[in-house]
Amino acid sequence: MIVVIDGPAGSGKSSTAKAVAAKLQIQFLDSGALYRVATLIFLNADKDYQTFFDRLEESKISFHFKDGKFHAILNDQDVSDEIRSMEVSKHVSDVASNPDVRKYVNDLMREVVKSNVYIADGRDLGTAVFPDAALKFYMVADLETRAQRRYEEVRANGKNVTLEEVKQNITQRDDTDSNRSSDPLKQADDAILVDTSDMTFDEQVAFICQKIEQLISQQKT
Ligand code: C5P
Repeated sequence: MIVVIDGPAGSGKSSTAKAVAAKLQIQFLDSGALYRVATLIFLNADKDYQTFFDRLEESKISFHFKDGKFHAILNDQDVSDEIRSMEVSKHVSDVASNPDVRKYVNDLMREVVKSNVYIADGRDLGTAVFPDAALKFYMVADLETRAQRRYEEVRANGKNVTLEEVKQNITQRDDTDSNRSSDPLKQADDAILVDTSDMTFDEQVAFICQKIEQLISQQKT
């Protein structure tokens, strides 16, 4: 079974999904992290697309969710912190716009989720990657709230950025993500809209948990 949360940058998808996964003892999949790993390979290939695709083919990307943290592994090396750099954030939406990169990441995700119960977050999971997901959420929040959240997260990781830089980055990424031709960011028709602008974190987690528990109890009857 898979539950998906899509939405723009900083709307609270990942942190909420992580907390839901820990509470319900299910697996968590951060699809954005996989696009970030691909972007790291792109940057290490000096932004040359041919070298990048050769390296992507040769690379082994894996992931796991342990002690409340999503770990992204590239060729046996844990790159979970490296993929959160501003340099990766600046390039990730362009790399993710490439249809071959999307196919690579989608194939990887579809294979992995076959064997367990997952909650995953991303941009196109409900519309393109898992159209038959058991439950779909579309999480939004106003720009100021999203920028402030991302800024605090990045600063907490010891990175030196300004609120303005973060705001510009998420505005630009949302624009690229919403306007690309390959599986753009948009709400699936059957997704439940969750506006987190005025919700506390605990309220977001409780709302999603309640919907999942409702579904599980309906399936049992
Ligand atoms: O979730 P996060 O902000 O880390 O995602 C980084 C980037 O990866 C997004 O801005 C978007 O360009 C891309 N992405 C995507 N499709 C997904 C998840 C992320 O295109 N399902």
